[in-house]
Amino acid sequence: MTEASGLEALREEYEKQLFDLRQLLEVSKSLNSMLDYHILIDAILFNVMGQMKVLKAGIFAKKGLDATRFSLHRNYKGFEIEHGTDYSIPEDHPVIKLFTRQYGCYTLDDLRQRIGSFAGIEGLASLGPSLIVPLKAKGAVNGLLIMGERIGEEGFDVYEREYVLNLAGLAAVAINNAFLFEMTTTDMMTHLKMKHYFYTVLLERMGEAATSGKPLSVIMIDIDFFKKVNDTYGHSCGDAVLKEVARVIQSNVRGNDLAARYGGEEFCILLPDADAERARQAAERVRASVAAATTDYDGQSLAVTVSLGVAQYDAGRDVSGKSLIDRADQALYSSKQAGRNRVSLSD
Ligand code: GH3
Ligand code: MG
Ligand code: MG
Repeated sequence: MTEASGLEALREEYEKQLFDLRQLLEVSKSLNSMLDYHILIDAILFNVMGQMKVLKAGIFAKKGLDATRFSLHRNYKGFEIEHGTDYSIPEDHPVIKLFTRQYGCYTLDDLRQRIGSFAGIEGLASLGPSLIVPLKAKGAVNGLLIMGERIGEEGFDVYEREYVLNLAGLAAVAINNAFLFEMTTTDMMTHLKMKHYFYTVLLERMGEAATSGKPLSVIMIDIDFFKKVNDTYGHSCGDAVLKEVARVIQSNVRGNDLAARYGGEEFCILLPDADAERARQAAERVRASVAAATTDYDGQSLAVTVSLGVAQYDAGRDVSGKSLIDRADQALYSSKQAGRNRVSLSD
């Protein structure tokens, strides 16, 4: 090799490294601006697939703050999943202890050498990952990134392994943040968003609607005679009914709508781009679905109804989020007065 061609090769290598570093910076910026947990997981997986030229990728993460296992997140790409197979990994499994002790990328063969057998992680092994990368934030393993076979090439070189480790480091921090955000804004019992989160989004959407002139509506929902359910069947039966009503509400909202648990047995839905009439139709769907649903508890089949109030945002009148909510609440009160199990419109 001449001196000139040697320098040229070196220059190319540096340029590639610079390009990859810029990529990582972009990834870092975009991942850290993403707080929606499931969208974030998607973004990480697509990035890994593009950068590492693999057709399959998946992430194992905890499902809740009290979870003791890492489960394969449902947004995995390409892997063929067998129903009935357990793909989760206990947090105290030797493989997690290994990852906590020794940071690095591992092939299945690497793992077999280090931990001996795949007992307890048969699901993971059955996916046949070409590379397994721990997701580590603040010194603790908070997940696992796995990749499938590569397109065209064999294995990963040292440089690629280092790259994916860097990427995994950024992903781990972003996942940690998004996970904590999800946990602190979601009601554990109903899995709906909580009031404070609803309020934050409400104010954002009100600002947008004031500028764009597009409609925006809210629905307030309260279960009818709920005290009677608690008094007759007990509090935990009441909880089961609450979960079922929440599930029915969630299954009736569209992609852009936001359903939340507003209080004990009160729920609300925010509907961007919906005027009072469209919101009334949505509320009516919820009312009918709740009335048709039953909760099975202790061999009994229980049915409840809900009363609903609808209000459309009025930029002139609703100077605060509270004003809009209050109007929907008054409409809800009208529904209660008129006999319950019905929808009323504000003014
Ligand atoms: P109304 O038709 O007028 O709404 O009658 P209601 O009995 O539903 O009256 P209200 O809305 O005031 O009742 C709220 C009840 O909901 C009181 C409270 O014990 C119960 N509740 C609130 N949060 C929970 C919860 O998390 N679990 C259970 N089981 N009950 C709850
Ligand atoms: Mg109530
Ligand atoms: Mg009630």
